[in-house]
Amino acid sequence: MSDNPVAKREEEILSFWNEREIFKKTLEKDAPRGNYSFYDGPPFATGLPHYGHLLQSFVKDAVPRYQTMRGYRVQRRWGWDCHGLPIENIVEKELGISGKADIEKIGIKKFNDTCREKIFTYAKEWERIIPRVGRFVDMGDAYKTMDTSYMESEWWAFKELYDKGLVYESYRSMHVCPRCETTLSQGEVSEGYEEIKDLSATVKFELVDEPGTYLIAWTTTPWSLPGNTALAVGKDIEYVKVKKFTGKWDKKNEPTYEYIILSKEIYNKKQEGNIRLMREFPSVYQVPDGCAVPHVPKVVDEFGGLNIVGKQYKPLFDTYAQDESLENRENGWKVYVGDFVTTDTGTGIVHIAPAFGSDDMALGKEYNLPFIQHVSMGGIMDARVDMGEFSELDLKPRAKNKPDEIREIDLAIVKHLKEKELLFASEKYVHSYPHCWRCDTALLNYATSSWFVGVEKMKATLLKTAEAINWSPAHIKEGRFGKWLEGARDWSISRQRYWANTMPVWRCDTCTHEKVFGSIDELEAASGVRVDDLHKDVVDQVTFACKKDDCGGVMKRIPDVFDTWFNSGSVPYASMHYPFDNKEAFKERFPADFIGEAQDQTRAWFYYQHVLAGGLFESHAFKNCIVTGIVLAEDGKKMAKKLQNYPDPMDVVDKYGADAMRMYILSSPVMRAESLNFSEKDLQEIERKMIGRLVNVYEFYALYKDSIEHDARADSTHVLDRWIVSRMQQLHKEVTDAMEGYEIDRAARPIGDFVDDLSTWYIRRSRDRFKGKDEEDKVAALNTLRWVLKEYAKVAAPFAPFIADWLWQKVKTEGAVESVHLAEWSDVMKFDEHVIKDMAQVRELISQALEVRAKEGIKVRQPLEEICFEDDPGFGVQYDELIRDELNLKQVRRNVTITPSVLTLRVVIPGVTINTEITPSLQKEGYVRELLRAVQGLRKKTGLEPGEMVTLRIKAPESLHDLIEESRDELRALASVAQVIWEETLEGEEVVMGEEKAIIAF
Ligand SMILES: [Zn+2]
Ligand SMILES: [Zn+2]
Repeated sequence: MSDNPVAKREEEILSFWNEREIFKKTLEKDAPRGNYSFYDGPPFATGLPHYGHLLQSFVKDAVPRYQTMRGYRVQRRWGWDCHGLPIENIVEKELGISGKADIEKIGIKKFNDTCREKIFTYAKEWERIIPRVGRFVDMGDAYKTMDTSYMESEWWAFKELYDKGLVYESYRSMHVCPRCETTLSQGEVSEGYEEIKDLSATVKFELVDEPGTYLIAWTTTPWSLPGNTALAVGKDIEYVKVKKFTGKWDKKNEPTYEYIILSKEIYNKKQEGNIRLMREFPSVYQVPDGCAVPHVPKVVDEFGGLNIVGKQYKPLFDTYAQDESLENRENGWKVYVGDFVTTDTGTGIVHIAPAFGSDDMALGKEYNLPFIQHVSMGGIMDARVDMGEFSELDLKPRAKNKPDEIREIDLAIVKHLKEKELLFASEKYVHSYPHCWRCDTALLNYATSSWFVGVEKMKATLLKTAEAINWSPAHIKEGRFGKWLEGARDWSISRQRYWANTMPVWRCDTCTHEKVFGSIDELEAASGVRVDDLHKDVVDQVTFACKKDDCGGVMKRIPDVFDTWFNSGSVPYASMHYPFDNKEAFKERFPADFIGEAQDQTRAWFYYQHVLAGGLFESHAFKNCIVTGIVLAEDGKKMAKKLQNYPDPMDVVDKYGADAMRMYILSSPVMRAESLNFSEKDLQEIERKMIGRLVNVYEFYALYKDSIEHDARADSTHVLDRWIVSRMQQLHKEVTDAMEGYEIDRAARPIGDFVDDLSTWYIRRSRDRFKGKDEEDKVAALNTLRWVLKEYAKVAAPFAPFIADWLWQKVKTEGAVESVHLAEWSDVMKFDEHVIKDMAQVRELISQALEVRAKEGIKVRQPLEEICFEDDPGFGVQYDELIRDELNLKQVRRNVTITPSVLTLRVVIPGVTINTEITPSLQKEGYVRELLRAVQGLRKKTGLEPGEMVTLRIKAPESLHDLIEESRDELRALASVAQVIWEETLEGEEVVMGEEKAIIAF
């Protein structure tokens, strides 16, 4: 147990929940409204929970707690995400290996076994932390995405899609990570864009029938140039041929020239002062002796793009071009028309490498171009590329954390071309480029075979089913999610990795006949082998004879595994092992009533669930979705262990309690998909203002609760009681309305604010009633306060579950449920709006009047005569006592004609006047109050018990003696002063009384 009283109180409540099995009871209690379905977005257990995880847990706890109180049964099953690259990367490091070759060397079984072992490294910590932050969730019965049952449901899903014609295999240009050696999906690629510096090159391609004439093309990936097999021009683009000095003189000392072909529009930018073109087409040359010689380049010809189509140019690299076995070699190294060619950047002529770009590949297919894949998926340059020492260079080394580093392979290519006098220009170029979201390596655009879910084919369904989803914040619907969905392309679901679910496709090694299995039974029926694990190391062992036309070949599984998003997107059915088990339960719980996660999941978990649900069930997967922002460090930067720019979340919980952290996060803009700069100070403020004050309010109640019998009732007629009851009912309505709209921050904020009204107004103004002699009024106040605290405990329960239950235990009435989390959410009540409005007006009036006092330098302890209203102020006389007490006035007068002689000042509220004239008797009263306050202060300081009599010694000027003598009775009654002794000299506390000063001591 913690020493900190806040944390200790929460830990005691946690023990109470555990001992009494409160969470279990929330699932067993009556649920008149039926089931409310919720899917957990499973986290990875390869690290400790950070603020992002806790934030999700707060949301995923608040909503189910609320719905439980509303009368639903809310199953809350924890899930673990187990597969994919994060764990693979950890295990690679742990085993001291790197790359696929190493993994295959140690064996996939050993690799997968290690992944299985390491995935739960931190699970125990999670199982301690998640309940400690107040989340009710069943972690004992967690589903894991690596469970055989879970994986089998995915096999079923894949087969369903396959049978419906919604998955297919295709060879196309994809983004691949050369380090992880696997393809990535559109969503993964879109997450990884970073600005980096590349070496761009403008390369010369010499025309075969016009030596000395070059087409120039620009590229940001010089490494792809050995794969060049064509150039593309625009059919409507105008080109120029420019005669240009080479910068060299021949043996006879005559200048030599070359002819450069590029887009006319781009060349003309030179005239507009384009610096790059002025440098590339200089008009003045420097000769060795230092003189400047003019050689103005000259346009010698102009023609449309079609005029150069079909022209042949010399390949930059010979190796492949001379390889007679290269398919379609006769079509290579010629100029073609490409409708994607523009004059926005580059030269208006595009370098085409069909193996490394989608436009390139499409053009390659259209014209049967030779296909040269001179770089492996692992990013290694083919040794056959004739570059001497630079062959076999690796494309990988540059990571995104080194954005300025130029790839060695690009430098080598550029240097090589320069030596061959084929480089026209080269410069560094900053652009946004995709990186692997797991390992930060720059991606390659790479032609490869991949399996796809045909998202485009089912888009109409997906857009239609998306209409039924309620998003919070609402703008996600048409914005981030809607736009993504509209532009969504087919989803690449195959990966070339190890620790993942396997794709259930077997193919004949002879006739390529293909078979897809939707269950373990189906695989057994075909192969005679029953497996109890669907991981790669197991199912790749299952082979069987091809039965197609007695071909005699062997059916082997394709090597691919599933994208992990296929894994987590399958949560709705796979977590229940549907359709093998739980058929009825699935129907009841699908689609989910609620899910939530951070904004980045709009293109990931939310999206993939939606796609799979659309493909399998023609339905949306969830009805309501809360999209959160992210928690940043206080300085607005990403929270980073290295920077130590944030406090450990569990230290914060230990210091201020989980409730304070929950309230802080749940009432923040993070609930509207915006980011929050985490401030420990602001969190502490919530602890102090909401939790701390609430405890103080209860402690105040506890002082009087046993003094007289009372209940918890909302029927008092006293204006303060009526006001606080109405405020409570108003709060209840606000919270209910916001929660029904899944607007968590709008629900949480007023819960904190209410405590301020309760503590600094209701309690402060009601103190005397609780102490008071009027028993009827005392009971009314106690009834009211208890009712308010009880209702408040319920309203606060989903957000600050610890303090809410603590309070509930203290104020619940006989026969009430044992925990507030088993209580019923009250129906929205009609409340007295007038009393809220009037009290607000009164408080505003008071605060303005206090400002007047402050401006005039009249302390509140100095009583004043009156406040006057020329007209009816709009609120009833029942508020007058409040105003008198709060402003220390003798009377409140209404409908009076204010004569200038009486009034000294006008308060800002039109018509309202506070009389700040201080008569001698009012002044005396003020002095006595000053003295009393000073004596009370001195008593406290000296540690006197209440009621303990004391002798007061005073040194004061003559003018004050009478006044003090006259107040002896008050001093005795209110400050237990037995006698007063006058002193000539005295050291002690100073009391200012108008112009004069007195010194007091005991
Ligand atoms: Zn990677
Ligand atoms: Zn076959």
